[in-house]
Amino acid sequence: MTDLRIGFGFDVHAFGVGDHVWLGGCRVAHTHGVVAHSDGDVLLHALCDALLGAAGLGDIGEHFPDSDETLKGVASALLLTATMERVQAAGYGVVNADLTLLAERPRLAAHRVAIRESVARLLGVALERVNIKATTTERLGFIGRGEGLAAQAAVLLERRA
Ligand code: MG
Repeated sequence: MTDLRIGFGFDVHAFGVGDHVWLGGCRVAHTHGVVAHSDGDVLLHALCDALLGAAGLGDIGEHFPDSDETLKGVASALLLTATMERVQAAGYGVVNADLTLLAERPRLAAHRVAIRESVARLLGVALERVNIKATTTERLGFIGRGEGLAAQAAVLLERRA
């Protein structure tokens, strides 16, 4: 019988001083940056947590702690690559991933294709196995007030080894 594992991830970062944010490994020009120990890529952080969750490997904070000075400013693409190595070492491969950005700004539409390609490349899967979507929160809450942004990710893993 096929051994399938589902995982879910969620991440938030506050906006801060800057002129760009990282989304799914892509640099997106914006009126603000984000406050983060790494590059603050909410999509990739949520995805790492979903992968680790599905594989039963804990969470991103355990694997890549904020207290690790060597990770200061690190590209989240490297965190995702390291996460994938651990997922594969545990015997799993990615079936599909579904990511949602929650933000009033920046709008995703102009970057959706590039982000989808980036995430698929980092996961080592075909484009059609990755979906990228976005929603605002109808101007409600911290996201609606433009204080930060958030992401959710769901992944399905399949045992390969
Ligand atoms: Mg984060």
